[in-house]
Amino acid sequence: MIQASHVNKTFMSDKGEELTVLKDMSLSLHEGEIVAILGRSGAGKSTFLRTLAGLVPPTSGSVSYRGKELHGPNPGVAMVFQTFALMPWLTVESNVELGLQARGINRKDRRSAALQAIDSIGLDGFESAYPKELSGGMRQRVGIARALVLEPDALFMDEPFSALDVLTAENLRQEVLNLWSNGEGKLRSILIVTHNIEEAVQMADRVVVLGSHPGHVIANVDVELPRPRDKHAPEFEDMVD
Ligand code: ATP
Ligand code: MG
Repeated sequence: MIQASHVNKTFMSDKGEELTVLKDMSLSLHEGEIVAILGRSGAGKSTFLRTLAGLVPPTSGSVSYRGKELHGPNPGVAMVFQTFALMPWLTVESNVELGLQARGINRKDRRSAALQAIDSIGLDGFESAYPKELSGGMRQRVGIARALVLEPDALFMDEPFSALDVLTAENLRQEVLNLWSNGEGKLRSILIVTHNIEEAVQMADRVVVLGSHPGHVIANVDVELPRPRDKHAPEFEDMVD
């Protein structure tokens, strides 16, 4: 569905030197798949995610979406960020509607789509709250609703749970998996950047590991463990003991 072919990315440093951040990176995100990207800090995970989202143009190589090369934002992708990136002066509902406003959708349709997205991630009743009135987990629910309302094929999540406590993160992971397996909206695939190996293995069908300096793919492996999302599978903890 989304494909990177031989992507290189070079930035200019403050001193005018070229810094190669991504080197010859090829990766496919297939329809129906959850892929996790692991790698050290600075390996280029976020840059690669933004490249696949069409927000950062590759210096060479290409990114395609449904067989067509991208030359701008990927229309099938919506992003969820580690620090939520909410507008503090806007209510939950207005935060969720922002992207629809940018698409020129009328107020009535924006409102009904936003309320549905807010409801789908368990935030009903908080439409009129401001971000500062919410816990971290609830703020990230707003971040997820804001992405889902765009009806993406692919949800790109950049360390979405790392600012949350362990239990909140676990709940939200499971809810995201439920949304994905219920086929919420058009959602088919998820790409998640994480530092948490258990999270990667719990969520993903495939794990990609990036090496550093410059970022390059050093492993691209299928997850062979049954996941907790498989209702009849043993718990992950039982598998690794
Ligand atoms: P972390 O785990 O800390 O989030 P990361 O793997 O996401 O790290 P990136 O944020 O993609 O890493 O950064 C990779 C490298 O690219 C870093 O050396 C960073 O300084 C550099 N970099 C990223 N964006 C830019 C930019 N716009 N201009 C210059 N250098 C950049
Ligand atoms: Mg990053």
